Amino acid sequence: MAGILFIISAPSGSGKSTLVSQLRSLVEGLEFSISYTTRQPRGSEEDGREYHFTTRAEFERMIAAGEFLEWALVFGPGGNYYGTAAAALDHARHAGKDLLLDIDVQGAVQVMQKLPQAVSIFIVPPSPEVLERRLRNRSEAEHVTSEADLAQRLSEARKELDKIRDFKYALVNDELDVAVGELRAIVLAERGVQDGVSALAASCRTDAGSARLLNALASFEKQGVGHRV
Ligand code: ADP
Ligand code: 5GP
Repeated sequence: MAGILFIISAPSGSGKSTLVSQLRSLVEGLEFSISYTTRQPRGSEEDGREYHFTTRAEFERMIAAGEFLEWALVFGPGGNYYGTAAAALDHARHAGKDLLLDIDVQGAVQVMQKLPQAVSIFIVPPSPEVLERRLRNRSEAEHVTSEADLAQRLSEARKELDKIRDFKYALVNDELDVAVGELRAIVLAERGVQDGVSALAASCRTDAGSARLLNALASFEKQGVGHRV
């Protein structure tokens, strides 16, 4: 069944983008919401692919016009705006797909409040040391190392971890393959629950002893050929 909203959130550098891109190559029927941001493109990023890069004036116009499902000023007052267009939900539904959001924790909390049926997943870095190493490696690879930006991301990470209990699922991104497997399992399990397939399968288990099964077996027993379940 299409129409499930998956929110993937975590401190910056935990590996959300990496996990999301692997998940999308493994699981069909997922539409990724391309966020709007006022930050500058990094490395090989392209407008309309990783983000819709926009100006503060245009972003503020969109806020005033109510065009966002959620938005946040990420990394404090000197930071940048990031937001999810409300239209993303309808777009995915019409395309018959589930929607995937990769957003920060403040944005995730807003969406969970508005849409409590959304499935929220928190990605936890294995340790502060590993998180710092990943942030450094990424910024070096993209030639944008800034100690102030790094310190800001690390201090935000601690605050964001405090919100973990608001999320339905959490997984630790230590071994990439393991974390991707867990993420895939969550998506498939939630699809199974929400379209009733899991409940239907469970009702057919022998230990569920459904009335249909028991009646059928009883009819054989009457003729002396049955076994009890
Ligand atoms: P986020 O989207 O959460 O900010 P990224 O996906 O950009 O994080 O990952 C941050 C850095 O960590 C990237 O350089 C990425 O290649 C690396 N990374 C992500 N997951 C793992 C992992 N399981 N093991 C090692 N490195 C990882
Ligand atoms: P980055 O600058 O590293 O791409 O992203 C910084 C943070 O902003 C990440 O935690 C990322 O998940 C978050 N982010 C990206 N898009 C959105 C969005 O649409 N809304 C919110 N609230 N956060 C976002």
